Amino acid sequence: MLKPNLNYGNLKDSYLFYNISQKIAAYLKEHPGKKLYRLGIGDVSLPLCDEVIKALHGAVDDQSKKDTFHGYMPEPGAPFLRETIANHYARRGVTLDTDEVFVSSGASDELGDILDLFDMDSSALVMEPAYPAYVDANIIAGHKIVHLPAGKENGFVPLPDDNYVADIIYICSPSNPTGAVFDKNTLKLWVDFANKNGSVILFDAAYEAFIESPGIPHSIFEIDGARTCAIEICSLSKTAGFTGTRLGYTVIPKDLVRSGMSFNSMWVRNRTTKTNGVSYIIQKGGAAVFTDKGQEQIMVNIRKYKENANAIMAALDSLGIWYCGGKNAPYVWMQCPKGMDSWTFFDYLLNEIQVIGTPGAGFGACGEGYFRLSSFGSLEDTKEAARRLVELLK
Ligand code: PLP
Repeated sequence: MLKPNLNYGNLKDSYLFYNISQKIAAYLKEHPGKKLYRLGIGDVSLPLCDEVIKALHGAVDDQSKKDTFHGYMPEPGAPFLRETIANHYARRGVTLDTDEVFVSSGASDELGDILDLFDMDSSALVMEPAYPAYVDANIIAGHKIVHLPAGKENGFVPLPDDNYVADIIYICSPSNPTGAVFDKNTLKLWVDFANKNGSVILFDAAYEAFIESPGIPHSIFEIDGARTCAIEICSLSKTAGFTGTRLGYTVIPKDLVRSGMSFNSMWVRNRTTKTNGVSYIIQKGGAAVFTDKGQEQIMVNIRKYKENANAIMAALDSLGIWYCGGKNAPYVWMQCPKGMDSWTFFDYLLNEIQVIGTPGAGFGACGEGYFRLSSFGSLEDTKEAARRLVELLK
């Protein structure tokens, strides 16, 4: 008899965003037309930059002419884009072969698909609070999950611990939801730990473009020893506003080998079996991000989001409320005041000042008592939300 993947039965229902939308709908029913200040969003709000738009238009025109038309693209990515991304890493002092870079449709797809490279009996270490997809993708794959708690005492940047060993180790830096970043020394500890135990680090660099503090690595491959223990998953979603356009890239070094098998070769086989490449048009748009002009223009948008983060941080500073993130990330992770749990704080902000954030409990048990504020909204609304926060909590 057919047996479905019974692991789906082990997934916990995710009530986080459903609950939030239900609460907002109920509030608006009672207070029709009331303006809300949405600091809960994880999506970008600014449009693609001019360089990208120009490249996309140019690529559409290419598709209209016989001589420049492109059909299927190479499954691991167009050579022009793989080379462009490898050069981008080289500018940061990281040397990659072009065929160590794989073009993807975004980090979410890769975070799920990459688990094809690991045995069904693998275990995965997830530092919590965490981006929920890490846990869910591993439950679907039937993997055992090792939860490594993080908290205020370590600034939500946990160190390796011999009591928490797993085959796959997730590191998200800058982190969603906490905005915390791993410095070079801490990452080196994790790289050494992974090499010692034969683990593979899945380094999620979706927010690397927000790093502004000097010395904070943008890539795990800035760390000695990472080539034998890490895969990096990156995305243009938050870097360049590609959430709806869809483009990312994944780096798998050829030195990453376990049981005599090369992860790079396995991924080539996987992509050629399970995909038919990313659209030529989108890859052209993506390549424009890495030009000098493209880099300047995406930074204009990132600076706008950072202005929002600054407004939130200034409000919390003036209130003396503990938080992390904000400086090198689009998220500010604050401690709920007056000992409130995160859903009580959500209701309090919605009812009293119409500000919406994301309750920390939605990102794992360690998130209880914390609250995520996002800087992806408009400056006007974020400033008003920050003003209201101060007024309410002073
Ligand atoms: N990784 C993290 C930590 C994220 O927060 C997100 C999206 O919010 C993703 C990956 C997925 O990004 P993408 O839009 O490239 O699928």
